[in-house]
Amino acid sequence: MENSEGIIERLKKDTVLGAEGYLFELERRGYLKAGPFVPEVVLDFPDAVKELHREFLRAGAEVMVAFTYYAHRDKMKAVGREKHLELLNRTAVKLAREIAGEGNALVAGNLSESWKYDHTRPKESEKIVRPMFEEQVQWASEEGVDFIIAETLDYVGEALIALDVIRQTGLPSMVTYTPILEKSRDGYTWSDACRILEDNGADIVGLNCGRGPNTIYRFLKDIRGSVKCFVAAQPVPYRTTDKQPYFQKLQEIGETSCAFPVALDPFLHTRFEMADFAVKARDIGVNYIGICCGGAPHHVRAMAEALGRTTPSSRYSHDECMQNVSFDGKPICDVD
Ligand SMILES: [Zn+2]
Repeated sequence: MENSEGIIERLKKDTVLGAEGYLFELERRGYLKAGPFVPEVVLDFPDAVKELHREFLRAGAEVMVAFTYYAHRDKMKAVGREKHLELLNRTAVKLAREIAGEGNALVAGNLSESWKYDHTRPKESEKIVRPMFEEQVQWASEEGVDFIIAETLDYVGEALIALDVIRQTGLPSMVTYTPILEKSRDGYTWSDACRILEDNGADIVGLNCGRGPNTIYRFLKDIRGSVKCFVAAQPVPYRTTDKQPYFQKLQEIGETSCAFPVALDPFLHTRFEMADFAVKARDIGVNYIGICCGGAPHHVRAMAEALGRTTPSSRYSHDECMQNVSFDGKPICDVD
């Protein structure tokens, strides 16, 4: 089937399922370094990136997000690869496009927060941040992305710059904040922060990363109640709590070091819990549902199936009886 329908047409018809978490998954697979989290893997191991795109596609993801997260000039300079900046950005879109063509997926360009924005010096910050966004968006649009996602933003001011740069291409825009704190770093509630984006022409607004389903939900409800445009939600699949509301805070009792970013495994949600999130999010009117850091293809497949879909990898989904494997008539977990 030809993917003649763009993101807006798809969202008008039904929930769209996304999938992210490339940094964390490729780190776990040994292709990317935790800390700098720069996606050099796009140039160094393109097959690894393509394989993860393919696994998300087979699990039901409808959008292949070009892996250009943190592939902006400042980060590339920090790892000594500024000269590969353009090549990396263009290659990432080509890889996503190639795999999207194996199914009926769209390709999204991707911007991340720059770490260079300072809301106490908005004009000076913009002079640094805007050109970084402009070059990435230009390369993405020249490579033919279907829409552009700007994500993990903490400042309304920086989000508005990203939005403006995206809108100049004429492509649909999706702009999402990471709700680590109760408000944006420049002092807006998340629902106000999203409403400001809508007022400035964003097509899709919402939240991604930082919080797990347990602690992101109330913000999503507020946002859904305050904007008319499409809403996106891509939480991390970790068991965040009121005491440890975002995944950078997670720590096991008695431990002195943070679980973030490389010891988060004990906090990982099951596929069933992420499937429950997908249904709950859809039921409150979230239009674009996905997953962020920590997410893996098995989560995405369970989310797709919970939304009533059958995916290429559903052929290998567990049989119902496997949830209660029995031995001598007892569930296996009750056998001593
Ligand atoms: Zn994330």
